[in-house]
Amino acid sequence: MPNAEPLLIVGSIAFDDLDMPSGTFRDVLGGSSTYSSLAASLFSPARVVGVVGSDFPEAHLDAMRTRNIGTDGVERVAGKTFRWHGKYSADLSSRTTLDTQLNVFADFRPKIPASYRASPFVLLGNIHPSLQIDVLDQIERPRLVAADTMNFWIASEPQKLGEMLGRIDLLIINDEEARQLSGIQNLCKAASDIRKRGPSHLIIKQGEHGALLFDKGGTFFVPAYPLEEVTDPTGAGDTFAGALVGYLARRSSSIDSPHALRRAMFFASALGSFCVEDIGPKRLLTLTRVDVASRIDAFRALVDFGGSLALD
Ligand code: AMP
Repeated sequence: MPNAEPLLIVGSIAFDDLDMPSGTFRDVLGGSSTYSSLAASLFSPARVVGVVGSDFPEAHLDAMRTRNIGTDGVERVAGKTFRWHGKYSADLSSRTTLDTQLNVFADFRPKIPASYRASPFVLLGNIHPSLQIDVLDQIERPRLVAADTMNFWIASEPQKLGEMLGRIDLLIINDEEARQLSGIQNLCKAASDIRKRGPSHLIIKQGEHGALLFDKGGTFFVPAYPLEEVTDPTGAGDTFAGALVGYLARRSSSIDSPHALRRAMFFASALGSFCVEDIGPKRLLTLTRVDVASRIDAFRALVDFGGSLALD
């Protein structure tokens, strides 16, 4: 695609320990920017900014580089890589964080390489809202800034989070986070409240129940692709966000161009459905554009009702 534009992604790079109903998996490559960049790079050149410790295998970074992901912004510092330990319920519908070890992530201050500062598309992964603001202060005004956050920051850093919301175009969060952020149970009302705080566009993810978009064009919904086997939902949200912004960057789309964001949501949901098929980012590491195209075809069939919806 001749006008595919680069996409800057800031977030965690991690080792995950996963307790799944199917078994336990240790030292799995993880982190929000890992998932987001693997998904985004199927569409556009992705540039990752993050930190790893001395224990992080260079082979993981090599794997990212071979998939069109720039790693010049990944700092390696002495110490241990960020580690997250999660345990899933038997039906995979919920998970508990057993342990979070910030390690080198505790002192992380994103440094945006000079060559990344004019990135036209930016995805601020789930990190401290002050760091998300710090990233925006270091770059030229991008065409689109999307951000994620989590319950922890909503509860502990409301002021900084509020400041961050005032500087982004698109917020991508899940339903629980939307309710917590707004203090409103009804998602449509919660969305109006959140959009008044800054982001003109809001996506609320609902896991296996799909995702809702709220913007000036109204409300839009994309389903999650129904799968017979779900192996590991870790990273599906980050994958969704990476694919979404990667797709917009590929088409050099303005977030306000009619239907661009709606189409991007199908690609985001398609990539999310691949992510959950295997442990960690394993499926994303082998995914091809042909695979993506065939799932998009399946999606088209899923929502094709064969004609008009006229009542008479
Ligand atoms: P998701 O399933 O989309 O919520 O993303 C899971 C990924 O988020 C895992 O790979 C974790 O390494 C990463 N993660 C978990 N907790 C945090 C945190 N507090 N800050 C940044 N990344 C995290």
